[in-house]
Amino acid sequence: MIRYIFITGGVVSSLGKGIASAALGALLQSRGYGVRLRKLDPYLNVDPGTMSPRQHGEVYVTDDGAETDLDLGHYERFTGVSARQSDNITTGRIYSRIIEKERRGDYLGATIQVIPHVTNEIKDFVLSDPGEGVDFVLCEIGGTVGDIEGLPFFEAIRQLGQELGPERTCFIHLTLLPYIPAAGEMKTKPTQHSVKELRSIGIQPQILLCRCDRPIPENEKGKIASFCNVRPSSVIEARDVRHIYDVPAAYHAEGLDKEVIRHFAITDAPEPDLSNWQRIARTIHNPDGEVCVALVGKYTDVPDAYKSVAEALSHGGVANNVKVTVRLINSEEFDDDARPLDILEGVHGIILPGGFGERGAHGKIRASRFARERKVPCFGICYGMQMSVIEVARNLAGLQDANTTENDRRTRNPLVGLMEEWTKGNEKVTRDENTDKGGTMRLGAYPARLRTGSRVAEVYGSTEISERHRHRYEVNASYIPELEKHGVVFSGLSPDGTLPEIFEIPDHPWFIGVQFHPELKSRPFEPHPLFASFIGAAVKQSRLV
Ligand code: GLN
Repeated sequence: MIRYIFITGGVVSSLGKGIASAALGALLQSRGYGVRLRKLDPYLNVDPGTMSPRQHGEVYVTDDGAETDLDLGHYERFTGVSARQSDNITTGRIYSRIIEKERRGDYLGATIQVIPHVTNEIKDFVLSDPGEGVDFVLCEIGGTVGDIEGLPFFEAIRQLGQELGPERTCFIHLTLLPYIPAAGEMKTKPTQHSVKELRSIGIQPQILLCRCDRPIPENEKGKIASFCNVRPSSVIEARDVRHIYDVPAAYHAEGLDKEVIRHFAITDAPEPDLSNWQRIARTIHNPDGEVCVALVGKYTDVPDAYKSVAEALSHGGVANNVKVTVRLINSEEFDDDARPLDILEGVHGIILPGGFGERGAHGKIRASRFARERKVPCFGICYGMQMSVIEVARNLAGLQDANTTENDRRTRNPLVGLMEEWTKGNEKVTRDENTDKGGTMRLGAYPARLRTGSRVAEVYGSTEISERHRHRYEVNASYIPELEKHGVVFSGLSPDGTLPEIFEIPDHPWFIGVQFHPELKSRPFEPHPLFASFIGAAVKQSRLV
């Protein structure tokens, strides 16, 4: 029997619903249960693929090629369960499905309405097959209770609660208990109002997860329980912790998983084994040194834009028992050659993340050159790799106008371009800039073959890999022979040998560029080998500078 747990939020956004859901998933797993986490996003975009990282943080890509909300990254990192296309839905996707069906005549003349048609689609999504061995499906509802666009989602989960009954559904509400310094008090009123809002649409939460920055006084807990109609033990203190990987153990200590088990009246639940989480917390809080990595990207004002990269770097730190400090450097500021790169002096590694478009591209090229010439460990990811290849072509192979056709349509040396352009010639391919931008990328897991004896083959301990992609442009394989004359090695290619996946510089402490996004597969208990190796190189570098 599959049980469903719905996680909603109130009072304010950004309370960490994604992490709370992921942490509860991890706790249930630690008791031996199988979990699947799903995210229901009320916004109208069909998927987050076309949304600016400035507004929405990074786009997380699954193995099966879905562009999803970044919370799915938290789910994967906390539970190790790979997310799928079928784990994220948006209002936009639901409406496009319904409209498609309506146009086909599938509704046989019925009037299409939010209730029941939209709510039924949402219910179908929640109930869709979660795969083998799943005991709990955890569904996080994006946004906060009271949002207009969220209403169909709340109505759908209310119906599910009524249809499946409390023995199969549990509602958890995440709220905020602000502390007002002038009054010297923690305030429960916003929580009471948020629960009232939820109850007014027919949902009685059974567990309240209360975010706070200090302990909740017992009498306040009692007040919340009484006014919100929950057991006092179901008012769970979710106090700020030092690191996100402290969250599962902290919520367990407050009784979250116990309350869930109790709600479902499960009497034979195994005790949780949290030793993994305790071990990782010990490593994170007692590092043996520190390294500083510069992340040179365009969206440095929104750290969520590089969420998975930052997480993967910290996993690399765990693998090497060091703390990784990430210095965010805005590549746009270095587009101007007159701006010196002295900000990169003394860093122990440089990471060039993914990106799009011309702004900041030259800055990345300059940072890549700095890393190559100054022998600083450098890791280029997707756009970062493309910029490193262009740097090498320009400054080592003498192809002055080497570029990506993403930024210069007419370059005579399209080092990076669209495959179609290489067969027809880049000037002949017409690209309508206003066409559908969604779903035109190489997305999801693709295999690559690594060259025996290369650094990457050693790092992976294998010559066959599979990694997740999200890009339109490819490095142009016809330039490989020329570039390889100048000290770089294309050590990873698509299995048919046509698409460069990895390049490295053997005569350098650590210089690797990858066309894919390895950060998406890194997990705290399984740091990605490239990130572990990169941080290992940064540790060596830190002993030199
Ligand atoms: N803009 C580049 C492309 O589309 C790189 C994309 C990325 O870094 N994710 O190929």
